[in-house]
Amino acid sequence: MRSRGDRLEAALAEHELDRMLVTDLTNVRYLTGFTGTNGAVVCGPGLRVFLTDFRYTERAVAEVSEWETVTVTGDWLAGIAERLEGKVGFEDDHMSVRALTKLEEKLPDGVEAVAAGGAVEALRRVKDAQELAAIAEAAKLADAALKATLEEGFVGRTERAVAAAFEAHVRAGGGTLSFDTIVASGPNGAQPHAEPGDRVIPKGELVTFDNGAKLDGYCSDGTRTYATGDPGEEGVRVYETVLAAHQAAMEAIRPGVKGEDVDKAARDVIDAAGHKDHFGHGLGHGVGLDIHEGPRLSLRSDDVLATNEVVTVEPGIYLAGDLGVRIEDLVVITDDGLRNLSSLPKDLTYVD
Ligand code: ZN
Ligand code: ZN
Repeated sequence: MRSRGDRLEAALAEHELDRMLVTDLTNVRYLTGFTGTNGAVVCGPGLRVFLTDFRYTERAVAEVSEWETVTVTGDWLAGIAERLEGKVGFEDDHMSVRALTKLEEKLPDGVEAVAAGGAVEALRRVKDAQELAAIAEAAKLADAALKATLEEGFVGRTERAVAAAFEAHVRAGGGTLSFDTIVASGPNGAQPHAEPGDRVIPKGELVTFDNGAKLDGYCSDGTRTYATGDPGEEGVRVYETVLAAHQAAMEAIRPGVKGEDVDKAARDVIDAAGHKDHFGHGLGHGVGLDIHEGPRLSLRSDDVLATNEVVTVEPGIYLAGDLGVRIEDLVVITDDGLRNLSSLPKDLTYVD
């Protein structure tokens, strides 16, 4: 595969830009490997410049290769501006209006800033082997941490304590959380983004456990819904419906398919079971350096799936005041379908 800088240069040509200024730190990291908190990139035909300040010169030496490192000593934006030329793409989805105004004041004559947000994000959708390995490792760590948490049991503990136990296992394995863990029991499960609270988990309920680990900058994301004893007829029925929807979506995934159509494969199953109004979010999203990135699997998505993209498949049914179920796997799209990075079983599992 071509270097990331080369791929960005090719994208610039397509957008008829002379230079691209990258200021979002995640995008800077993606292009250069730099993990510090002040850096920017200027890319153009044959031009690979990484800018930082003196605090990070040493880190840049260790982390950044293939990009010429420039330590800006005076005014940061002036240091950037003097390396820009012609039509310059900037990240309008990340740069503040104030920063843009200040930058424009410093641009040399004849240099024009053009909104080009999303250019690097588009490159980030397809992962290389190293990225796929990092995401797989993060998923493995999260699954092991969840398994260890399950062994300690749910019943009689607060959601918060269970979430804290998961985090401790992730940290013991050398990772951090890729997002705040969701442990949502009983009626709390009806909120897709519930925060774990002081509710003590009783017997006979469903518990949604949405979790992820981060390793080497890369995220994982996965959800299982467990039962602490018999969750009742409705609970079982909702679970089976979500599982069938999940499987329908998994079977629909392959390169060339629209994110919208994969969403629809799951949504049709949920609609047919009478839960049309109870699945209020998209089916899935890309995962990489960010927990939410492209492509999107939703009814509002024009994204077409491609080999080596990494996406979640996470249908859910949420019955307000009652219960919720979500089942989420993290998958790599392959030439003939997908490779599942999630290892935990999906049949309804009982936890004490
Ligand atoms: Zn999730
Ligand atoms: Zn997710």
